[in-house]
Formats: sequence, structure tokens, C-alpha cells
Amino acid sequence: MKHPVVFVGHGSPMHAIKNNSYTQMLNRLGIELPPPTAILAISAHWMTAGTKVTADAHPKTIHDFYGFPDALFEIQFPAPGSKELVARVQSLIPETELSSEWGLDHGTWAVLRHMYPQAQVPVVQLSFDPRQSGAHHFELGRRLAPLRNEGVLIIGSGNIVHNLRALNWDENAPADARAVTFDRWVKERLDQRDFPSLIGDVRATPEGAWSVPTWDHYHPMLYVLGAAHTDDELRFEFEDIQNAAIAMRTFTFGTKSAL
Ligand code: ZN
Repeated sequence: MKHPVVFVGHGSPMHAIKNNSYTQMLNRLGIELPPPTAILAISAHWMTAGTKVTADAHPKTIHDFYGFPDALFEIQFPAPGSKELVARVQSLIPETELSSEWGLDHGTWAVLRHMYPQAQVPVVQLSFDPRQSGAHHFELGRRLAPLRNEGVLIIGSGNIVHNLRALNWDENAPADARAVTFDRWVKERLDQRDFPSLIGDVRATPEGAWSVPTWDHYHPMLYVLGAAHTDDELRFEFEDIQNAAIAMRTFTFGTKSAL
């Protein structure tokens, strides 16, 4: 059986301690997806020179944000690591280096604590090199695709639109028109399986340049597209523009049922 691949729009760390339609969607995904033997997560919040994986048997919970309530800093997500998955990633991408410096950042645990609240599934995080092109990230995703046949759930965690300078602290602030336009354009390209347009210079339009001021939250999606197959079923699990400038669009490629 081939496991689905998932792109999650993660937005504010506050979702980690909320119960709303978004977190309920994550909870539902955790129940609906075929139970994985391990998770490989590519988070917007781990950028390195070259590609690295978390190598610890018990990766630490990293609170990589400031100015949020204590309750958020107290969260631990004690999922084990996986030596086996690390070894498989290294066999598929030989240049991958082991890292004991990083652990699970909020791009990963704020999502997974809603999907797998018991933290029972082993989790390995993969970093990405921000100096590299979209084509490079897509290619690494393509090389990771065989993991889908080995019980591994691949999750990219970022945001299709992520403009912090335009952020409104009100989660329900009206969406900026440029965010709506770009998010809709990405949705159409996904529907068409037009991956080349999404790998290319999406910042070429004014809406793209505004929506993707930096590549960090966009590039994790390219790993998911690389690991997807054009004949995979595509499902949009959630869509919303929050804080005026953050697209929460979440989607899966691949059948959910364990057929
Ligand atoms: Zn983020």
C-alpha cells in the first residue's frame, strides 16, 4: 500500500493549544490516514546548509518562537526518533547529514500533536537548504517517494501564503486580496497537476511576490509534490486565509483508505 503525502499549512503556533475547525481537521486526518510506521516531516523552520536529518533516539521538542503564552513553551511532544528511517533517508539521499542539534520544531509538533496526540509514531525531521532552487527541493521529494511504500507518512509543513510583514494579529482579519489570488492560483495548479508552474518562479507575479516574500514556508510543499504521483487522488482538507496574510491550505495526495 502506498501512503498518502500531506502538505499542512501550519500558521500560528497558537493552534497547538486550540480546539477549532483547523485542529479538528488535523485530528480527523490522524484518524483517517492509514496508520504510519514512521513520519518524515519537512518543516519551514529548519533550514541548513545542505540536507540534514534528526538523528536522536528521542528528538527534543523545540520552542522556536517568541512572545507566546507560557502554555505553549510547556508543551512537550515526546515522539521517538527512528534509526531505521534515518538510514533509509540516507540511502535515498546519500548526501544527508545526521544532526543532533535540532529536534522537532513547532512546524512539526504543533501539527502532529493534533494528528497523533499520543506521540506514539516515530518522527524524523528533514531540513532543507534555502540556497537551493525549487527544482532541487522537488527532486529530493521525488527521491523520498519510495518511503510511501514502506509505511512512512511524508508531511511538508509550511504555508502557501506567508507574509509576516502584512500579518494582522486578528486571526479572522479580512484576507488580503493578493493572498486570496495566489492561494487560488496554487489550488488550480494542483488541480491540474501542473507541478512545473509551482516549482518555477512563482514570485514572478505581483501576487506571488507578495505571498512568498521568502521561500521558507513555500519550499516544504515542493517535497510533497515531488513525492506525489500525478495519478494520486488530491484532496483539499482545509482552506482559509488567516491573519490576513497566512494561507492555511492543507491537502493530501493519495488514497486515505488502507485498500
Ligand atoms: Zn511557520
